[in-house]
Amino acid sequence: MDLKSMTMEELTDCIVELGEKKFRAKQIYGWLHQKLVRSPEEMSNVPAKCLEKLLKEHPFYGVEEVEHYVSKIDGTQKFLFSLHDGNMVESVLMKYKHGNSVCISSQAGCRMGCRFCASTLLGLSRNLYPSEMLDQIYAIQKATGERVSHLVVMGTGEPFDNFESLCRMIELLCSPEGLNISHRNITVSTCGIVPKIYEFADRNPQVTLAISLHSPNDTMRKELMPIANKYSMDELMKAAKYYTKTTGRRITFEYSLVKGVNDKKEHAEELISRVKGMNCHVNLIPVNPIKERDFEQSTQNNVTAFKHILERQHIQVTVRREMGRDIQAACGQLRKSYKERSGNE
Ligand code: SAH
Repeated sequence: MDLKSMTMEELTDCIVELGEKKFRAKQIYGWLHQKLVRSPEEMSNVPAKCLEKLLKEHPFYGVEEVEHYVSKIDGTQKFLFSLHDGNMVESVLMKYKHGNSVCISSQAGCRMGCRFCASTLLGLSRNLYPSEMLDQIYAIQKATGERVSHLVVMGTGEPFDNFESLCRMIELLCSPEGLNISHRNITVSTCGIVPKIYEFADRNPQVTLAISLHSPNDTMRKELMPIANKYSMDELMKAAKYYTKTTGRRITFEYSLVKGVNDKKEHAEELISRVKGMNCHVNLIPVNPIKERDFEQSTQNNVTAFKHILERQHIQVTVRREMGRDIQAACGQLRKSYKERSGNE
C-alpha cells in the first residue's frame, strides 16, 4: 500500500518490521497528515536510510496541481490535479461563513452513466487510492494557506463504487494525529448503491449522507440514472430510512431540476409522497447544462414553484447556490475540457 494511505497503526508495524525506532512512525505520520509535505524529502528529521527503505515498499503517492482557477464571482477555487500515472482529477474549494469546504473526486472518471453529468462521459479510468482523495484536501490547504474544515465527496466518481478506500480516507482524515476533521463535517453523496448505504450506516454513523434522487419515481429515474435499473426507489428509500434510523442523522436528497423533465407540479407532489415524515432535507439543484447533452436548466419560476410546493407540506428544502460558474466548477467539466484542450494541441 502507498505511504499516505496507511493508518498510524499500519505505519508503526511497518517501521518496527524494518528495524527502525517506533517513534519514527509518529514523526512520519505527522509530516504526511499534519504538516502536509508535498514530497518525501521535506521530512527533514527522518534519516534518509529509513525513508529509503520505507518508500521502496510504500511509494509516496499524491496529487500535483496542474491548473488553478479562482472565481471572480464568489471566490470559489477550482483545481485540476494529476496523479502519478497521468490520470487527472478535479476538486473545488468553497468558502462559507461556517468554514472552508473542499469537494473532492473519488474516482478518475465514473461508470454510473447519469445522463446529465459530465464526469461519466468518458467512463471510469480507475479508483482513487485513499491517499489521492486525501491529498486533494492537503494540496488545497497547502496552496491556499486556508484551513479546510469541511469535506464533501461530491466531485467526479461514485464514492460507494470505491467503498473501502472511501472509508479508509475518512478514517485517516479524522485521525487525531492527522487533520482531525470531525466526521460530522463530512458529506458523502451517492447515486444510490443500496447495499453500501446499509454498510456505510453501520460503519460511519456520524457522516452525513446525500442521495442523488433527481426523480420521484422509477420510470423517470431510470431515464436519468442507469443505477435505477438495479435498485428500485422502494429499495432506495428503505435504505435511506435505515440510515436515518441507525445514525440519527438527517439525510439529504439531491434533486437536480431539468426543464420539462422532472420539474413539474405533479413531480413535486410525488416527491412529497416519497419523503414525507422522513428525517430529511431536499436540496434542489438547477441542472448545470453540459454541452454534450440537451438538458436545460429549469426556469427560476419553476424552481421557486417547486420549492414552495415542498415547503407547504413542511418538507425542509433549499435551492443550491450556484458557485464558480465562470470556472467550470461543476462535476467533471474541467477534467474533460482539459483532455479536449490537450488533445487539440
Ligand atoms: N456519484 C455521486 C457523487 C458525485 S455527483 C452521486 O451521484 O451522488 C454530485 C451531485 O451532482 C450528484 O447529485 C449529481 O447527480 C449531481 N450532478 C451531476 N451533474 C450535474 C449537472 N450537470 N447538474 C446538476 N447536478 C449534477
